[in-house]
Amino acid sequence: NADIPRPVLDVLRRLRELGFAVFLVGGCVRDMVRGVPPKDFDVTTSAHPHEVQAAFKKVIPTGIQHGTVTVVIGGTHVEVTTFRSEGDYHDGRRPSTVKFESDITEDLSRRDFTINAMAYDPISRDLVDPFGGQADLQAHVIRCVRDPHERFSEDGLRPMRAVRFATVLGFMLEPSTRAAIPPTLPVFRKVALERVREEFVKVLLSPRAESGLVLLAETGLLEVFLPELARADAEAARLARAAAHAVPAEAELRMAALLADLVTGPQARELGIRLKFPNKVAETVGLLVEHAVLEKRFSDGDPALRRLLARTGLGQLEPLLAVARARVQVRSPERLPEFTQLQERLRALAAAKPPLTTKDLALTGGDIMATLGVGPSAIVGEATRFLLDTVLDEPSLNQPEKLKELLRTWQAGKGR
Ligand code: ATP
Ligand code: MG
Repeated sequence: NADIPRPVLDVLRRLRELGFAVFLVGGCVRDMVRGVPPKDFDVTTSAHPHEVQAAFKKVIPTGIQHGTVTVVIGGTHVEVTTFRSEGDYHDGRRPSTVKFESDITEDLSRRDFTINAMAYDPISRDLVDPFGGQADLQAHVIRCVRDPHERFSEDGLRPMRAVRFATVLGFMLEPSTRAAIPPTLPVFRKVALERVREEFVKVLLSPRAESGLVLLAETGLLEVFLPELARADAEAARLARAAAHAVPAEAELRMAALLADLVTGPQARELGIRLKFPNKVAETVGLLVEHAVLEKRFSDGDPALRRLLARTGLGQLEPLLAVARARVQVRSPERLPEFTQLQERLRALAAAKPPLTTKDLALTGGDIMATLGVGPSAIVGEATRFLLDTVLDEPSLNQPEKLKELLRTWQAGKGR
């Protein structure tokens, strides 16, 4: 009980005083039984949402149609959900109706896996565990509550959650739970890709990402949302997983390392958008994939490397190096020393803060027009590109007088 924050206990005590049944439920109970500190505490109660609202000063009706309200106590938000069972599922999506229940066991029986279907009363210290969640936690098993085929047919996201929990916790899928995945894939296909992606990212960022990706492929889930990887040949897929595993646990890095040798930059960007990643993430993944094969730059001179920096932006250099290094590490480790040399050259070039865009030029658009003796016109753009090209080759030329001189020579050359 030492782990349970004061405001959560206050909510439990208050509802109990009013005569309602009230428990902690779901992930926090699972974590307390495992002996790890819970991330957040979900409360479930026989009180109906309006009764919960009446019991506390400040309550936000966050999801009142699903029976969820948020109690605000001492600045802390506590989610309180009324015991419920769910109405009919359509097309593997969330049920449109909910039915409130007075019994905790009813509420637990609608939950996905036995380890997530336990409730705990910290006041009496009673653990309600009708489906054997404690035993499965000890045995490291992910098992559906009730019949897996039915549960996966009701809600197509559940198989993905099963793989996610198995990966994150390092557990096995109980055989009948695992066997129910392939035949229910048509239901999984209908789930919104945004929800699939949220679970996928948890797999990808886990320390066991590699085995999680294997499990996704073996169960057929991967083919549905990431055919680019699912259809790759065995060796290419193995290298992709290994590269993803080798970069730090950030979505952009792991996605880029996974995709770098399977698709082009623009395809990676499209794929990110298809999976409903935020646009910025999709853009970054596309950029990283586009430039990830740094081996082909080993013999590039400084001007070419500066042009690379100009295309990626200085801020993306470290992410790019991380992805590129992981690829080299898993595909051709003998080239790591060469890679490290290139990495140090790129870092040194970036640290010198060379001019990389027209904004970095020592002349403004106005200066350029004055020097050329022209007004706004196409020639200004042409001159600007000429100057940028010149300073990318030789950054020391980026001084007003030198650039003016270059411009005059360039203009005279054009006139001939
Ligand atoms: P995490 O630590 O990742 O948040 P969690 O167990 O709290 O894990 P949530 O997605 O926050 O997972 O869901 C809270 C609880 O709601 C779960 O423990 C489970 O009891 C129930 N639940 C969530 N999604 C489903 C679902 N698709 N079908 C059935 N029950 C679900
Ligand atoms: Mg949770």
